[in-house]
Amino acid sequence: MNKRRILAASSVLCLSAVLLGGCQHLMPFSEDLTTSGTASEETAASPTAGIAFKSRPRDSGEEVSENTQAKAEESEDLAQGDTEEESVSGAATGTAEEILQQAQRLAAMYDYDSAIALLQSQPDDPACAQAAAEIEGIRDSCVAWGPEQVTHVFYHTLIKDCALAFDGDEDTAGYNQVMTTIEEFEKITQSMYDRGFVMVSLEDMARKDENGNMVPGEILLPPGKQPFVLSQDDVSYYHYMEGDGMASRLVVDENGKVKAEYIQEDGSVLVGDYDMVPLIDSFVEQHLDFSYRGAKGIIALTGYDGVLGYRTDGVYQTRQELDEFQVAYLNNHLDFNWDEEVARATQTATAMKENGWAFASHTWGHINVGESSLERLRTDTEKWLTYVSPIVGGTDKIIFAFGADLAGAENYSGEKFDYLKSQGFDYYCNVDSSQYWVQLQPNYLRMGRRNLDGYRMYYHPELLADLFDAQAVFDPSRPTPVPEMS
Ligand SMILES: [Zn+2]
Repeated sequence: MNKRRILAASSVLCLSAVLLGGCQHLMPFSEDLTTSGTASEETAASPTAGIAFKSRPRDSGEEVSENTQAKAEESEDLAQGDTEEESVSGAATGTAEEILQQAQRLAAMYDYDSAIALLQSQPDDPACAQAAAEIEGIRDSCVAWGPEQVTHVFYHTLIKDCALAFDGDEDTAGYNQVMTTIEEFEKITQSMYDRGFVMVSLEDMARKDENGNMVPGEILLPPGKQPFVLSQDDVSYYHYMEGDGMASRLVVDENGKVKAEYIQEDGSVLVGDYDMVPLIDSFVEQHLDFSYRGAKGIIALTGYDGVLGYRTDGVYQTRQELDEFQVAYLNNHLDFNWDEEVARATQTATAMKENGWAFASHTWGHINVGESSLERLRTDTEKWLTYVSPIVGGTDKIIFAFGADLAGAENYSGEKFDYLKSQGFDYYCNVDSSQYWVQLQPNYLRMGRRNLDGYRMYYHPELLADLFDAQAVFDPSRPTPVPEMS
Protein backbone atom coordinates (compact mmCIF):
# COMPACT_ATOMS: atom_id res chain seq x y z
CA MET A 1 0.00 0.00 0.00
CA ASN A 2 1.41 3.34 -0.92
CA LYS A 3 2.03 6.11 1.48
CA ARG A 4 -0.69 8.22 0.00
CA ARG A 5 -3.35 5.73 0.91
CA ILE A 6 -1.90 5.15 4.34
CA LEU A 7 -2.02 8.82 5.05
CA ALA A 8 -5.60 9.04 3.93
CA ALA A 9 -6.50 6.03 5.98
CA SER A 10 -4.77 7.32 9.05
CA SER A 11 -6.44 10.67 8.70
CA VAL A 12 -9.84 9.09 8.64
CA LEU A 13 -8.86 6.72 11.38
CA CYS A 14 -7.84 9.65 13.49
CA LEU A 15 -11.28 11.05 13.21
CA SER A 16 -12.83 7.70 13.91
CA ALA A 17 -10.70 7.13 16.93
CA VAL A 18 -11.83 10.41 18.33
CA LEU A 19 -15.25 8.89 18.50
CA LEU A 20 -14.34 5.46 19.59
CA GLY A 21 -13.23 6.59 22.97
CA GLY A 22 -16.62 8.05 23.62
CA CYS A 23 -18.56 5.30 21.94
CA GLN A 24 -17.19 2.13 23.41
CA HIS A 25 -18.61 2.76 26.80
CA LEU A 26 -21.61 4.62 25.54
CA MET A 27 -23.32 1.89 23.62
CA PRO A 28 -25.60 0.24 26.16
CA PHE A 29 -26.74 2.88 28.63
CA SER A 30 -25.35 6.07 27.36
CA GLU A 31 -27.60 8.34 29.34
CA ASP A 32 -25.82 7.25 32.49
CA LEU A 33 -22.78 9.05 31.33
CA THR A 34 -24.08 12.51 31.65
CA THR A 35 -24.66 12.08 35.34
CA SER A 36 -22.33 9.40 36.63
CA GLY A 37 -18.65 9.98 37.08
CA THR A 38 -17.21 6.59 37.78
CA ALA A 39 -13.61 6.11 36.84
CA SER A 40 -14.32 2.54 35.79
CA GLU A 41 -15.83 3.81 32.57
CA GLU A 42 -12.55 5.20 31.40
CA THR A 43 -11.05 4.32 28.09
CA ALA A 44 -7.78 5.31 26.56
CA ALA A 45 -9.40 8.03 24.55
CA SER A 46 -11.85 9.13 27.15
CA PRO A 47 -10.39 9.47 30.58
CA THR A 48 -13.59 9.54 32.47
CA ALA A 49 -17.24 10.30 32.30
CA GLY A 50 -19.38 12.63 34.26
CA ILE A 51 -18.44 15.71 36.10
CA ALA A 52 -14.85 15.72 37.16
CA PHE A 53 -14.06 19.17 38.29
CA LYS A 54 -10.97 18.75 40.36
CA SER A 55 -9.49 20.73 43.12
CA ARG A 56 -10.85 24.20 42.85
CA PRO A 57 -8.07 26.49 43.81
CA ARG A 58 -8.84 28.21 47.08
CA ASP A 59 -12.43 28.91 47.89
CA SER A 60 -13.49 30.95 44.92
CA GLY A 61 -15.29 28.12 43.21
CA GLU A 62 -18.08 27.75 45.70
CA GLU A 63 -20.13 30.78 45.00
CA VAL A 64 -19.64 30.71 41.27
CA SER A 65 -20.98 27.18 41.11
CA GLU A 66 -24.27 28.22 42.60
CA ASN A 67 -25.48 30.53 39.83
CA THR A 68 -25.43 33.34 42.31
CA GLN A 69 -26.08 36.89 41.36
CA ALA A 70 -23.00 38.64 40.20
CA LYS A 71 -21.83 41.34 42.49
CA ALA A 72 -18.46 41.86 40.97
CA GLU A 73 -16.17 44.55 42.15
CA GLU A 74 -16.62 47.36 39.72
CA SER A 75 -13.04 48.41 39.76
CA GLU A 76 -11.86 44.93 38.83
CA ASP A 77 -14.31 44.63 36.00
CA LEU A 78 -13.45 48.01 34.66
CA ALA A 79 -9.82 47.09 34.54
CA GLN A 80 -10.69 43.97 32.61
CA GLY A 81 -13.21 45.78 30.49
CA ASP A 82 -10.62 48.21 29.28
CA THR A 83 -8.71 45.43 27.62
CA GLU A 84 -11.79 43.71 26.29
CA GLU A 85 -13.19 46.86 24.82
CA GLU A 86 -10.57 47.19 22.16
CA SER A 87 -11.01 43.67 20.90
CA VAL A 88 -14.74 44.09 20.55
CA SER A 89 -15.35 47.54 19.25
CA GLY A 90 -12.18 49.56 18.94
CA ALA A 91 -11.45 52.94 20.40
CA ALA A 92 -14.01 54.98 22.25
CA THR A 93 -14.20 58.02 20.08
CA GLY A 94 -16.96 59.74 18.16
CA THR A 95 -20.23 61.54 18.64
CA ALA A 96 -22.67 60.68 21.40
CA GLU A 97 -24.68 58.76 18.83
CA GLU A 98 -21.66 56.71 17.80
CA ILE A 99 -20.70 56.10 21.39
CA LEU A 100 -24.21 54.93 22.12
CA GLN A 101 -23.95 52.43 19.28
CA GLN A 102 -20.54 51.22 20.41
CA ALA A 103 -21.84 50.80 23.94
CA GLN A 104 -24.87 48.85 22.75
CA ARG A 105 -22.59 46.55 20.81
CA LEU A 106 -20.40 45.99 23.87
CA ALA A 107 -23.43 45.33 26.05
CA ALA A 108 -24.88 42.92 23.50
CA MET A 109 -21.66 40.91 23.86
CA TYR A 110 -21.95 41.00 27.67
CA ASP A 111 -19.15 43.49 28.27
CA TYR A 112 -21.33 45.66 30.44
CA ASP A 113 -18.61 47.44 32.36
CA SER A 114 -16.89 48.61 29.22
CA ALA A 115 -20.22 49.74 27.81
CA ILE A 116 -21.04 51.70 30.96
CA ALA A 117 -17.58 53.25 31.12
CA LEU A 118 -17.96 54.34 27.52
CA LEU A 119 -21.35 55.90 28.15
CA GLN A 120 -20.07 57.71 31.22
CA SER A 121 -17.62 59.51 28.93
CA GLN A 122 -20.72 61.45 27.79
CA PRO A 123 -22.12 62.66 31.15
CA ASP A 124 -24.15 65.45 29.59
CA ASP A 125 -25.97 63.28 27.06
CA PRO A 126 -29.34 62.09 28.41
CA ALA A 127 -29.57 59.16 25.98
CA CYS A 128 -26.18 57.90 27.12
CA ALA A 129 -27.11 58.34 30.77
CA GLN A 130 -30.32 56.41 30.29
CA ALA A 131 -28.54 53.63 28.38
CA ALA A 132 -25.94 53.37 31.13
CA ALA A 133 -28.67 52.94 33.73
CA GLU A 134 -30.38 50.25 31.67
CA ILE A 135 -27.13 48.37 31.13
CA GLU A 136 -26.35 48.55 34.84
CA GLY A 137 -29.69 46.90 35.47
CA ILE A 138 -28.89 44.07 33.08
CA ARG A 139 -25.44 43.66 34.56
CA ASP A 140 -26.82 43.37 38.06
CA SER A 141 -29.18 40.61 36.95
CA CYS A 142 -26.35 38.46 35.59
CA VAL A 143 -25.57 34.97 36.79
CA ALA A 144 -21.99 33.79 37.30
CA TRP A 145 -20.86 30.56 35.66
CA GLY A 146 -17.81 28.70 36.90
CA PRO A 147 -15.55 26.62 34.68
CA GLU A 148 -17.19 23.34 35.72
CA GLN A 149 -20.46 24.52 34.18
CA VAL A 150 -19.16 25.02 30.67
CA THR A 151 -19.72 22.45 27.92
CA HIS A 152 -17.44 22.10 24.88
CA VAL A 153 -18.48 20.96 21.41
CA PHE A 154 -16.35 20.34 18.34
CA TYR A 155 -16.52 19.61 14.64
CA HIS A 156 -14.25 18.59 11.81
CA THR A 157 -14.27 20.26 8.38
CA LEU A 158 -17.87 20.74 7.30
CA ILE A 159 -19.29 19.04 4.21
CA LYS A 160 -20.66 21.37 1.55
CA ASP A 161 -21.57 18.83 -1.13
CA CYS A 162 -22.97 15.58 0.24
CA ALA A 163 -23.03 13.90 -3.18
CA LEU A 164 -19.25 14.21 -3.38
CA ALA A 165 -18.53 13.39 0.26
CA PHE A 166 -20.83 10.37 0.27
CA ASP A 167 -19.96 9.12 -3.21
CA GLY A 168 -19.20 5.61 -2.05
CA ASP A 169 -15.43 5.80 -2.22
CA GLU A 170 -13.17 4.60 0.59
CA ASP A 171 -13.51 7.87 2.53
CA THR A 172 -17.30 7.88 2.59
CA ALA A 173 -17.72 5.86 5.78
CA GLY A 174 -15.30 8.03 7.73
CA TYR A 175 -16.91 11.26 6.56
CA ASN A 176 -20.33 9.88 7.43
CA GLN A 177 -19.17 9.01 10.93
CA VAL A 178 -17.12 12.00 11.98
CA MET A 179 -18.05 14.92 9.74
CA THR A 180 -21.01 17.29 9.87
CA THR A 181 -22.72 18.87 6.89
CA ILE A 182 -23.12 22.62 6.55
CA GLU A 183 -26.89 22.27 6.71
CA GLU A 184 -26.61 20.30 9.94
CA PHE A 185 -24.15 22.80 11.36
CA GLU A 186 -26.46 25.71 10.62
CA LYS A 187 -29.40 23.97 12.28
CA ILE A 188 -27.30 23.06 15.32
CA THR A 189 -25.97 26.60 15.66
CA GLN A 190 -29.46 28.07 15.40
CA SER A 191 -30.75 25.62 17.99
CA MET A 192 -27.93 26.36 20.41
CA TYR A 193 -28.48 30.07 19.95
CA ASP A 194 -32.21 29.67 20.53
CA ARG A 195 -31.46 27.78 23.73
CA GLY A 196 -29.28 30.59 25.01
CA PHE A 197 -25.80 29.19 24.39
CA VAL A 198 -23.01 31.76 24.22
CA MET A 199 -19.46 31.10 22.98
CA VAL A 200 -16.78 31.70 25.58
CA SER A 201 -13.02 31.24 25.46
CA LEU A 202 -10.88 28.89 27.52
CA GLU A 203 -9.39 32.04 29.06
CA ASP A 204 -12.85 33.04 30.22
CA MET A 205 -12.95 29.75 32.14
CA ALA A 206 -9.52 30.00 33.74
CA ARG A 207 -6.36 31.93 33.26
CA LYS A 208 -3.01 32.43 34.92
CA ASP A 209 -2.74 34.80 37.82
CA GLU A 210 0.29 36.94 38.52
CA ASN A 211 2.04 33.95 40.10
CA GLY A 212 1.53 31.75 37.06
CA ASN A 213 -1.19 29.67 38.69
CA MET A 214 -4.34 28.83 36.77
CA VAL A 215 -7.33 30.29 38.58
CA PRO A 216 -11.01 30.01 37.69
CA GLY A 217 -12.63 32.77 35.74
CA GLU A 218 -16.13 34.02 36.21
CA ILE A 219 -18.44 34.23 33.25
CA LEU A 220 -21.31 36.65 33.80
CA LEU A 221 -24.42 36.08 31.71
CA PRO A 222 -27.99 37.28 31.98
CA PRO A 223 -30.61 34.72 33.04
CA GLY A 224 -31.46 32.32 30.19
CA LYS A 225 -27.96 32.32 28.72
CA GLN A 226 -25.34 29.61 29.25
CA PRO A 227 -21.70 29.32 28.18
CA PHE A 228 -20.06 26.85 25.79
CA VAL A 229 -16.69 26.43 24.10
CA LEU A 230 -16.46 25.68 20.37
CA SER A 231 -13.56 24.04 18.55
CA GLN A 232 -12.76 22.54 15.18
CA ASP A 233 -10.09 19.93 14.51
CA ASP A 234 -7.81 19.36 11.55
CA VAL A 235 -8.48 22.63 9.75
CA SER A 236 -5.78 21.69 7.27
CA TYR A 237 -7.84 20.77 4.20
CA TYR A 238 -5.73 17.66 3.82
CA HIS A 239 -4.80 16.60 0.31
CA TYR A 240 -6.85 13.41 0.59
CA MET A 241 -10.04 15.48 0.96
CA GLU A 242 -9.67 17.15 -2.44
CA GLY A 243 -12.73 16.62 -4.61
CA ASP A 244 -14.79 15.34 -1.69
CA GLY A 245 -17.17 18.28 -1.38
CA MET A 246 -15.38 20.35 1.24
CA ALA A 247 -13.65 23.74 1.21
CA SER A 248 -10.03 23.90 0.06
CA ARG A 249 -8.67 26.70 2.22
CA LEU A 250 -9.50 29.80 4.26
CA VAL A 251 -8.75 33.19 2.75
CA VAL A 252 -9.08 36.86 3.61
CA ASP A 253 -11.48 38.44 1.15
CA GLU A 254 -11.44 41.97 -0.25
CA ASN A 255 -13.43 43.21 2.76
CA GLY A 256 -10.92 41.78 5.20
CA LYS A 257 -13.24 38.95 6.21
CA VAL A 258 -12.13 35.35 6.50
CA LYS A 259 -13.99 33.17 4.02
CA ALA A 260 -13.58 29.65 2.66
CA GLU A 261 -12.64 28.81 -0.89
CA TYR A 262 -14.52 26.01 -2.55
CA ILE A 263 -13.30 24.55 -5.83
CA GLN A 264 -16.18 23.39 -8.00
CA GLU A 265 -16.00 20.36 -10.24
CA ASP A 266 -15.35 22.54 -13.30
CA GLY A 267 -12.40 24.12 -11.54
CA SER A 268 -14.05 27.46 -10.82
CA VAL A 269 -13.57 28.80 -7.30
CA LEU A 270 -16.29 30.04 -4.98
CA VAL A 271 -15.49 32.22 -1.96
CA GLY A 272 -18.00 32.21 0.88
CA ASP A 273 -19.30 30.63 4.04
CA TYR A 274 -18.27 27.06 3.25
CA ASP A 275 -16.81 26.04 6.60
CA MET A 276 -17.18 26.72 10.30
CA VAL A 277 -15.06 29.87 10.65
CA PRO A 278 -16.91 32.06 8.12
CA LEU A 279 -20.26 30.52 9.08
CA ILE A 280 -19.74 31.48 12.72
CA ASP A 281 -18.38 34.92 11.80
CA SER A 282 -21.49 35.61 9.75
CA PHE A 283 -23.77 34.24 12.43
CA VAL A 284 -22.20 36.45 15.10
CA GLU A 285 -22.52 39.49 12.85
CA GLN A 286 -26.25 38.84 12.94
CA HIS A 287 -26.36 37.68 16.57
CA LEU A 288 -23.81 39.55 18.67
CA ASP A 289 -25.15 37.87 21.79
CA PHE A 290 -23.86 34.50 20.58
CA SER A 291 -20.31 35.62 21.48
CA TYR A 292 -19.09 36.47 24.97
CA ARG A 293 -17.01 39.63 24.67
CA GLY A 294 -15.92 38.70 21.17
CA ALA A 295 -14.89 35.10 21.79
CA LYS A 296 -15.15 32.65 18.90
CA GLY A 297 -13.84 29.09 18.65
CA ILE A 298 -10.50 27.31 18.86
CA ILE A 299 -8.93 25.93 15.70
CA ALA A 300 -6.79 22.81 16.27
CA LEU A 301 -4.04 22.45 13.71
CA THR A 302 -1.69 19.68 12.68
CA GLY A 303 1.20 20.66 10.44
CA TYR A 304 2.16 17.83 8.11
CA ASP A 305 -0.02 18.99 5.19
CA GLY A 306 0.27 22.64 6.17
CA VAL A 307 -2.40 24.74 7.86
CA LEU A 308 -5.72 26.29 6.82
CA GLY A 309 -5.24 24.88 3.30
CA TYR A 310 -1.79 26.44 2.80
CA ARG A 311 1.08 24.06 2.14
CA THR A 312 3.39 25.53 4.74
CA ASP A 313 5.18 22.51 6.13
CA GLY A 314 8.93 22.30 5.72
CA VAL A 315 8.72 19.38 3.29
CA TYR A 316 7.12 21.60 0.65
CA GLN A 317 10.12 23.89 0.95
CA THR A 318 12.88 21.30 1.03
CA ARG A 319 11.02 18.85 -1.23
CA GLN A 320 12.47 16.09 0.90
CA GLU A 321 10.38 13.22 2.24
CA LEU A 322 7.27 14.22 0.33
CA ASP A 323 4.42 11.76 0.25
CA GLU A 324 2.58 11.00 -2.98
CA PHE A 325 -0.17 13.51 -2.29
CA GLN A 326 2.38 16.22 -1.77
CA VAL A 327 4.33 15.28 -4.89
CA ALA A 328 1.14 15.40 -6.94
CA TYR A 329 0.21 18.75 -5.44
CA LEU A 330 3.56 20.30 -6.30
CA ASN A 331 3.43 18.83 -9.81
CA ASN A 332 0.05 20.47 -10.27
CA HIS A 333 1.27 23.81 -8.88
CA LEU A 334 4.50 24.53 -10.70
CA ASP A 335 4.43 28.15 -9.56
CA PHE A 336 4.30 27.08 -5.90
CA ASN A 337 6.19 29.51 -3.68
CA TRP A 338 6.66 28.38 -0.09
CA ASP A 339 7.34 31.86 1.30
CA GLU A 340 4.17 33.20 -0.29
CA GLU A 341 2.24 30.27 1.07
CA VAL A 342 3.48 30.97 4.60
CA ALA A 343 2.73 34.68 4.19
CA ARG A 344 -0.87 34.02 3.12
CA ALA A 345 -1.41 31.51 5.89
CA THR A 346 -0.08 34.04 8.40
CA GLN A 347 -2.30 36.78 6.99
CA THR A 348 -5.33 34.51 7.34
CA ALA A 349 -4.47 33.36 10.85
CA THR A 350 -3.88 36.95 11.92
CA ALA A 351 -7.26 38.04 10.58
CA MET A 352 -8.88 35.15 12.44
CA LYS A 353 -7.23 36.08 15.74
CA GLU A 354 -8.32 39.68 15.33
CA ASN A 355 -11.84 38.38 14.93
CA GLY A 356 -11.89 36.33 18.14
CA TRP A 357 -10.54 32.96 16.98
CA ALA A 358 -7.84 31.09 18.87
CA PHE A 359 -5.45 28.36 17.78
CA ALA A 360 -4.31 25.12 19.38
CA SER A 361 -1.82 22.43 18.54
CA HIS A 362 -3.42 19.20 17.37
CA THR A 363 0.12 17.77 17.30
CA TRP A 364 2.13 18.19 14.09
CA GLY A 365 1.74 14.65 12.84
CA HIS A 366 -1.65 13.81 14.34
CA ILE A 367 0.03 11.50 16.84
CA ASN A 368 -1.51 9.66 19.75
CA VAL A 369 0.11 11.27 22.78
CA GLY A 370 -0.95 8.42 25.03
CA GLU A 371 0.94 5.85 22.98
CA SER A 372 3.86 8.00 21.82
CA SER A 373 7.21 7.94 23.54
CA LEU A 374 8.54 11.13 25.07
CA GLU A 375 11.07 11.28 22.27
CA ARG A 376 8.39 11.11 19.60
CA LEU A 377 6.32 13.71 21.39
CA ARG A 378 9.36 15.96 21.55
CA THR A 379 10.23 15.56 17.85
CA ASP A 380 6.63 16.12 16.86
CA THR A 381 6.21 19.18 19.06
CA GLU A 382 9.41 20.71 17.71
CA LYS A 383 8.02 20.44 14.18
CA TRP A 384 4.79 22.10 15.29
CA LEU A 385 6.71 24.88 16.96
CA THR A 386 8.90 25.33 13.87
CA TYR A 387 6.29 25.25 11.11
CA VAL A 388 2.92 26.06 12.66
CA SER A 389 3.57 28.23 15.69
CA PRO A 390 5.09 31.18 13.78
CA ILE A 391 2.02 31.31 11.53
CA VAL A 392 -0.52 31.39 14.36
CA GLY A 393 1.64 33.41 16.73
CA GLY A 394 2.18 30.67 19.29
CA THR A 395 -0.30 28.96 21.53
CA ASP A 396 -0.77 27.70 25.08
CA LYS A 397 -3.45 25.18 24.04
CA ILE A 398 -3.24 21.59 22.87
CA ILE A 399 -6.22 19.62 21.60
CA PHE A 400 -5.10 16.03 21.44
CA ALA A 401 -5.47 14.04 18.23
CA PHE A 402 -7.32 10.71 18.31
CA GLY A 403 -9.16 11.99 21.36
CA ALA A 404 -6.13 10.65 23.22
CA ASP A 405 -4.84 12.01 26.49
CA LEU A 406 -1.85 11.95 28.80
CA ALA A 407 -3.71 10.36 31.72
CA GLY A 408 -7.01 9.04 32.91
CA ALA A 409 -9.14 10.96 35.36
CA GLU A 410 -6.20 11.40 37.70
CA ASN A 411 -4.27 14.64 37.59
CA TYR A 412 -1.57 15.05 35.00
CA SER A 413 1.96 14.19 36.02
CA GLY A 414 5.02 12.61 34.47
CA GLU A 415 7.56 13.44 31.84
CA LYS A 416 5.22 13.95 28.87
CA PHE A 417 3.13 16.46 30.76
CA ASP A 418 6.24 18.13 32.17
CA TYR A 419 7.58 18.44 28.65
CA LEU A 420 4.40 19.92 27.18
CA LYS A 421 4.06 22.29 30.11
CA SER A 422 7.67 23.38 29.58
CA GLN A 423 6.75 24.19 25.97
CA GLY A 424 4.06 26.58 27.16
CA PHE A 425 0.91 24.47 27.08
CA ASP A 426 -1.57 25.38 29.83
CA TYR A 427 -4.87 24.24 28.27
CA TYR A 428 -5.44 20.57 27.35
CA CYS A 429 -8.47 19.05 25.63
CA ASN A 430 -9.48 15.46 24.99
CA VAL A 431 -12.78 14.00 23.79
CA ASP A 432 -15.51 13.00 26.18
CA SER A 433 -19.23 12.76 25.66
CA SER A 434 -20.16 14.06 29.07
CA GLN A 435 -21.99 17.33 29.19
CA TYR A 436 -19.31 18.74 31.46
CA TRP A 437 -15.78 17.48 32.00
CA VAL A 438 -13.40 20.03 33.44
CA GLN A 439 -10.30 19.57 35.56
CA LEU A 440 -8.64 22.68 36.86
CA GLN A 441 -5.30 22.46 38.59
CA PRO A 442 -2.85 25.22 39.48
CA ASN A 443 -0.73 24.27 36.45
CA TYR A 444 -3.35 23.45 33.81
CA LEU A 445 -6.96 23.38 32.69
CA ARG A 446 -8.17 20.13 31.10
CA MET A 447 -11.50 19.89 29.31
CA GLY A 448 -13.47 17.16 27.55
CA ARG A 449 -15.15 17.86 24.23
CA ARG A 450 -18.28 16.46 22.60
CA ASN A 451 -18.30 15.48 18.94
CA LEU A 452 -21.33 16.73 17.00
CA ASP A 453 -21.22 14.48 13.95
CA GLY A 454 -23.02 11.81 11.97
CA TYR A 455 -22.13 8.98 14.29
CA ARG A 456 -23.21 10.73 17.44
CA MET A 457 -26.45 12.02 15.95
CA TYR A 458 -27.36 8.63 14.51
CA TYR A 459 -26.52 6.42 17.47
CA HIS A 460 -26.73 8.66 20.50
CA PRO A 461 -29.13 11.53 19.89
CA GLU A 462 -30.00 11.57 23.59
CA LEU A 463 -26.48 12.72 24.41
CA LEU A 464 -27.11 15.85 22.37
CA ALA A 465 -30.54 16.66 23.72
CA ASP A 466 -29.35 19.66 25.72
CA LEU A 467 -27.99 21.21 22.52
CA PHE A 468 -30.40 20.33 19.70
CA ASP A 469 -32.87 17.75 18.41
CA ALA A 470 -30.68 15.30 16.48
CA GLN A 471 -33.59 13.79 14.57
CA ALA A 472 -34.51 17.20 13.22
CA VAL A 473 -30.91 18.04 12.34
CA PHE A 474 -29.63 14.77 10.81
CA ASP A 475 -29.06 15.33 7.09
CA PRO A 476 -31.30 13.02 5.02
CA SER A 477 -28.67 12.85 2.31
CA ARG A 478 -26.40 10.80 4.57
CA PRO A 479 -26.25 7.11 3.70
CA THR A 480 -27.80 5.08 6.52
CA PRO A 481 -27.13 3.32 8.64
CA VAL A 482 -24.11 5.39 9.53
CA PRO A 483 -21.36 2.74 9.66
CA GLU A 484 -20.51 1.27 13.03
CA MET A 485 -17.05 1.96 14.36
CA SER A 486 -14.91 -1.07 13.69
ZN1 LIG B 1 -7.83 15.07 14.40
